[in-house]
Amino acid sequence: MKSHFVLFACCIPVKGASRSTICDLQRNSFELVPNVLHEILTEHTNKSIQEVFEVYDHEYNEEIKEYFDFLVDKNYGFYSNEPHNFPKLDLTWHNPLTITNALVDFDRHSTHDLSVIVTQLSSLYCSAIELRFFSSLTLEKLRQVIRLFDNTTFRSVQITVGYHPELTPESLFMIRQNNERVQEILVHSTPQIDEIVLKEKFKVAIYTSQKINTEACCGNISPHYFTSRVEFFTETQSFNSCLNRKISIDKRGYIKNCPSMSQAYGHIDDTTLASVAQSKDFQKVWHISKDQVSICQDCEFRYICTDCRAYLATPNDILSKPAKCSYNPYEANWEDSSREKNKAII
Ligand code: SF4
Repeated sequence: MKSHFVLFACCIPVKGASRSTICDLQRNSFELVPNVLHEILTEHTNKSIQEVFEVYDHEYNEEIKEYFDFLVDKNYGFYSNEPHNFPKLDLTWHNPLTITNALVDFDRHSTHDLSVIVTQLSSLYCSAIELRFFSSLTLEKLRQVIRLFDNTTFRSVQITVGYHPELTPESLFMIRQNNERVQEILVHSTPQIDEIVLKEKFKVAIYTSQKINTEACCGNISPHYFTSRVEFFTETQSFNSCLNRKISIDKRGYIKNCPSMSQAYGHIDDTTLASVAQSKDFQKVWHISKDQVSICQDCEFRYICTDCRAYLATPNDILSKPAKCSYNPYEANWEDSSREKNKAII
């Protein structure tokens, strides 16, 4: 029997008010575990298994051994005589870019010019953009939109668009085949039932009958949106998981942190995105991490959960919990219990 139990460096324990998670940053998954296991894995991380047994007066030797075996079964760790050879992961997040992602909204009355926005963002080396069209687009119009990203810095383009009969799975498949930067097309307000269309093992499009016809459709918190990846987890240690390095243009052309927020920093017709991005006032919300948000700071999901600073549980308190989250970390339950994605070992 080897002397120590060692968690893989990519498996990080996170303590919540009533239970904990182990977030696997390599496989984008997490496991719910009791808080006592978090204590063993963090406060007693350098102790041998025998020393851990002693901490708990040998009263729970069997249970502790079962916990370690469970983690080995899950491929979260291993036994070793040389734990010092396995240093912890550095969770510092760095990114040289001022703006890494953008969100631009349009409805049928919008007048802002997407080509101007794309050019400005590309000169900031922005790599990801989400476009939300609250009304429908023809196939040709959608193609024109996507062509604007040719020869730009964008690596990911996500599009939400209202239903049009020309937006068939076949036509969207062709678009995605010819434009690798198009990561996802979500077609809303469809007459048919919801479906995810897959072709040749890749996601072509998501069709939903839900009407996404206003920015207020955003801000929902659910385990379906949890991300346990190293880039996201390290960023959320110190920054906001929705707004950090983001710039948005709302459906009327106003530049904001998020289209649903009331504060605007100018209009795209007379203000450059670069000047707004440099503004310290604009950057303030980038630094609101979940560790500062009430209730979230006690939640075991805080580093894998998306945030929302637009729809707040207490509207005039910028540090209050997202209004559209039904999770209670003190009781470990979702108001809507179908949202529980992983089963606990507790
Ligand atoms: S309480 Fe906060 S961190 Fe936890 S699931 Fe809800 S929004 Fe996410």
